[in-house]
Amino acid sequence: MSFPARAVVDLSALASNVRSLRAHAPTAQLMAVVKADAYGHGLLPSARAALAGGATWLGTAQMDEALALRAAGITEPRVLTWLYAPGAPIARAIEADVDVAVSSASALTEVVAAARAVGRTARVHLKVDTGLGRNGLTPVDLADVLPGALRVQAEGAVALVGIWSHLAFADEPDHATVRAQHEVFADAVRLAESAGARLEVRHLANSAATLTSPQVHYDLVRPGIAVYGLSPVPQLGEPADFGLVPVMTLEAELATVKRVPAGHGVSYAHQYVTPVDTVLGVVPLGYGDGIPRHASGTPDRLGGPVRVGERTLGVAGRVCMDQLVVDLGPEAGEQAGDRVELYGTGADGGPTAQDWARAAGTISYEIVTRLSRSVPREYV
Ligand code: PLP
Repeated sequence: MSFPARAVVDLSALASNVRSLRAHAPTAQLMAVVKADAYGHGLLPSARAALAGGATWLGTAQMDEALALRAAGITEPRVLTWLYAPGAPIARAIEADVDVAVSSASALTEVVAAARAVGRTARVHLKVDTGLGRNGLTPVDLADVLPGALRVQAEGAVALVGIWSHLAFADEPDHATVRAQHEVFADAVRLAESAGARLEVRHLANSAATLTSPQVHYDLVRPGIAVYGLSPVPQLGEPADFGLVPVMTLEAELATVKRVPAGHGVSYAHQYVTPVDTVLGVVPLGYGDGIPRHASGTPDRLGGPVRVGERTLGVAGRVCMDQLVVDLGPEAGEQAGDRVELYGTGADGGPTAQDWARAAGTISYEIVTRLSRSVPREYV
């Protein structure tokens, strides 16, 4: 393999994170959210590790990913998929025993047609927009849709197995909307059950709510980011505070190491100029690989952190398409080929995806999901 960088994915850490999350929600089942290629960690290995850790459900936004799980022989757990446009392969999902979310009356019509076409019962989770203002039936829509949904359930075209929703401020557990959404959700559940729905699962909690809002755990929690060992509430706690270990370590070999004089402009637009005679190291990763350009270094502030030996340095100057530069300092003993780490577990003060998120003004979700598929994943 000639790519001079890799993302090492620790599947035992992933399984252990799922175990920790289950301990935070002991009365609920756990759906590991493996959308977006398992947040960049690799769909199938991550899904299998999550199951090994005790997940009994897997969740994907895209139907193709749900189908890929089944095609790979992952037949035991329930799989839920929730984001599709008209014309999606719903019939294939039903045949593959994938549960489908329904967020609108027209989606229900499509699901019913698909179920009839394949002569199978579609397992449906009605998505309620309790206040996120994204997809889902508003409470008014839900009241309109329920009678028809129960009719087609009686015919056997669908089984209404779930009611679910998603929080707007899960990462701020005291935010008034958490309670407000919970109340709307509880009303929706009551409405569905009093109309005759026999729900298997009611689910509302993502990672943040799994860790901080036990009152919304219901029957099933749906963590994503925490499965990968990153804190969904960095302002409230580090991964270790929740029993989590970051799963992905991004490492590279220095492509070039060279000595330059003081006053040497570094990278495009010379946003960084060497303050003294020093040694520069070139890391062969850039924004083409998903490293955020917003984590470039400026004269006042070093950019995204890079661990070199025992030291944590920062990106000097602009992140380029396929490389970035680190000022290794005048005494540097590093050589081309030496290993550097951009982020990992954070052990011994090493940099984390959360540090990169901070440097780039974004969230850790974006750091790991945007890591290009051109960077090989190595599973340990
Ligand atoms: N549930 C739904 C509907 C989602 O869209 C997501 C991801 O955004 C999750 C659960 C998992 O969220 P998190 O990664 O914050 O745990």
